[in-house]
Amino acid sequence: MTDERTFDVIIIGAGPAGLQAALHAVRKKARVVVVGRPGRSSIATAHVENYLCVEGVVAGEELLRIGVAQVKKFGAELLEEDVLHVSQAEDGMVQVRTECCTLSAWALVIATGTSRKKLRVKGEKELAGRGVSYCVDCDANFFRNAKVSVVGDGSAAVDGALTLTGYASEVTLVTHGLDVAKDLADKLKASSVRVMVGTWVREISGEQAVTGVVLENDQVLEVEGVFVELGSKGAMELAVGLGVLLDTETFTHIVTNKKQETNVPGIFSAGDITGHPYQMAKAVGEGCVAGLAAANYARNQQKTVNEVD
Ligand SMILES: Cc1cc2nc3c(=O)[nH]c(=O)nc-3n(C[C@H](O)[C@H](O)[C@H](O)COP(=O)(O)OP(=O)(O)OC[C@H]3O[C@@H](n4cnc5c(N)ncnc54)[C@H](O)[C@@H]3O)c2cc1C
Repeated sequence: MTDERTFDVIIIGAGPAGLQAALHAVRKKARVVVVGRPGRSSIATAHVENYLCVEGVVAGEELLRIGVAQVKKFGAELLEEDVLHVSQAEDGMVQVRTECCTLSAWALVIATGTSRKKLRVKGEKELAGRGVSYCVDCDANFFRNAKVSVVGDGSAAVDGALTLTGYASEVTLVTHGLDVAKDLADKLKASSVRVMVGTWVREISGEQAVTGVVLENDQVLEVEGVFVELGSKGAMELAVGLGVLLDTETFTHIVTNKKQETNVPGIFSAGDITGHPYQMAKAVGEGCVAGLAAANYARNQQKTVNEVD
C-alpha cells in the first residue's frame, strides 16, 4: 500500500463487526479498506458454540480466517496496522493515520472492540484517575511539566509517549520490547523519550496520588503519572479527536442510533465498542447495518460533490 490512499469507506477494526461492515460495504460497490489486526480481535482466542449456523465448538481464529478471506474476495483491502490518529476535514472527508500511511474516505466505521487492558499490578486500581491513566489524549494536559511513565510494547505506547513529550518534563517508556513499524521506532529514537527495555512495572506506589513505579528489576521511577497503553489506541482516544459522543455513565462506549450513526455525520460505529452484550452475533448485526449505511453515505457525498462540480 502506498503512503496516501483514498477510499469510500474506512473501517477501523478487523474483528467480527469490522469484517461484516466491510463485507456489506464492499458488496455495495464501495472502495473499502479495513485497518486492524484480526489476530487482536477478542474472538481470536475464543471457542464459540453460541453463534448461529456453527456446529459444535469452533475456534474464533478459524472464523476470523474465513471472514478475512471473504472480505478480500469481494475486493476490500486489509491493512494490518494500528490507527494512530483520526481527523475530519471541513469538506467532511475523514483522514486516518496509521503507522505507515494516511488514508482518506467519505465515511468511517469505528469497530475497535473494547480493550482497556489493565496491568493488574499492586496500586493500579487504587490510583486509577489519581495518576494512573488509560488515555493519553484525554489526560496528557493534567501532567504538564510532570515526570511520567508510559507502559506498553505497541504503537499506542510509543505514540502516547511521543505525545506526552509535548506536555511532561520527562517521559520514560517501560517496555518488554517494542513491536512497532520502523517509522514510529525512528520517531521514538529521535525524541527525548527515555526507553527502558526488558523490564516491566511490578507496582505503582502512592497514597493519595501516584508517586512512583517499582520495576521488576527493582528500579524505582519517581513519576506523577503512569499511562497504561497496552495494545492499540482505544476508540475513546480516536473518538475524542472527532467529537464523537460517548455514553455519559462509563465513557467507554460510543453512542449510536439504529443506523449505527454516531452524532458526527459520516462516522459510524459497531460491535463491542457500542455497548453490551459483548457477543459476536450483536457485533456482526451492527457491522452489517454500519457497512451499508457507510457505503450509502459515501455514495451520497460523492454525488453531492459531482453535482457541485
Ligand atoms: C475469551 C473470550 C471469549 C469469548 N467467547 C465468545 C463466544 O463464545 N461467543 C460470542 O458471541 N462472543 C464471545 N466473545 C465476545 C466476542 O469476542 C466479541 O463480542 C466480538 O469479538 C466483538 O467484535 P468486535 O468486532 O466488536 O471487536 P473485536 O473482535 O475485539 O475486534 C476489534 C478489532 O479492532 C482492532 N483495533 C482496536 N484498536 C485499533 C486501532 N487503534 N487501530 C486499528 N485497529 C484497532 C483490533 O485489532 C481488532 O481487530 C468472547 C470474548 C472473549 C474475550
